[in-house]
Amino acid sequence: QTKLRDKRILVIGLGRFGSSLALELVNHGWEVLGVDSNPRLVQAYADALTHTVIADATDDEALRQVGAPQFQRAVVAIGTHLEESILATSQLVDMGVPDIWAKAISRRHGRILEQVGAHHVVLPEHDMGERVAHLVSGRMLDYVELEEGFSLGKTKAPKELLGKPLRETKVRQKYGITVVSVKRLHSAFTYATEETVLQKGDVIVVAGRTDDVERFAEVT
Ligand code: ADP
Repeated sequence: QTKLRDKRILVIGLGRFGSSLALELVNHGWEVLGVDSNPRLVQAYADALTHTVIADATDDEALRQVGAPQFQRAVVAIGTHLEESILATSQLVDMGVPDIWAKAISRRHGRILEQVGAHHVVLPEHDMGERVAHLVSGRMLDYVELEEGFSLGKTKAPKELLGKPLRETKVRQKYGITVVSVKRLHSAFTYATEETVLQKGDVIVVAGRTDDVERFAEVT
C-alpha cells in the first residue's frame, strides 16, 4: 500500500524514450529524478523534471550519491548502448531497488535484462512495429495486444451489426469477439451492453483472441 502511494521514480537515460516517459510521469504528479551522462540532455530537462543529475549509471558510487537505493521504482531507459543498459540495471538490482523497468532493443537484450534481475522489460520499437503491422495490413483504426493472443481492436461498426441490439446480432458466437465500447459521431466512448443498437458511422472497440479480432476487422 505504502509502496503504491510512493510516487517517486528514478529514470536513467533521457533519450527519446526516457524523456517522454519522465515528462508523462511528471504530468501525472510523479516526482521524477532524471539521470543521464550527457550534460546537454540533463540541461535540456532540468526545468521540466523534478530533479535532474549528470551521472554515469554504471558507476555504483555515482548512483549511491544520487540516492538510487532509496527509490522503490526505477526505469533504465538506455537502449542503444547495450553494455551500459545491462550494467546500470545490474547496479540497481544489487542495490535492492524493488521495482525495476528496463527498455530493451531486441528480445535477446530483453532476456539478458531479465536474467540480470529486471522486474519488467519493455520492447518499445519491437512492440510498436508489430502493432503498426496490424494497422497497415488490415482495417483496424487502432489495435493493442494485451498479452500473447488476446487483443483489443478499434474498428468501424460493420453493416451486419447495425440496427438491432447486439444480443440479436450473435456477434460473439459468430466471430468470437465481444463489443466492449461504442463511440457515436461527436460523442465520447461509452460501454456497450447487450441492448446497445449500433448505427452507421459508429466506432467500436472489440476484445477477443487476436485472430478473431483480426478476422472481425475484415467484416464490412
Ligand atoms: P532513445 O532511443 O530512447 O533515444 P538511447 O539509447 O539513444 O535511447 O538514449 C539513451 C540515453 O541514455 C542517452 O541520452 C545516453 O546519454 C544515456 N546513457 C547511456 N549510457 C548511460 C550511462 N552509463 N549513464 C547514464 N546515462 C546513460
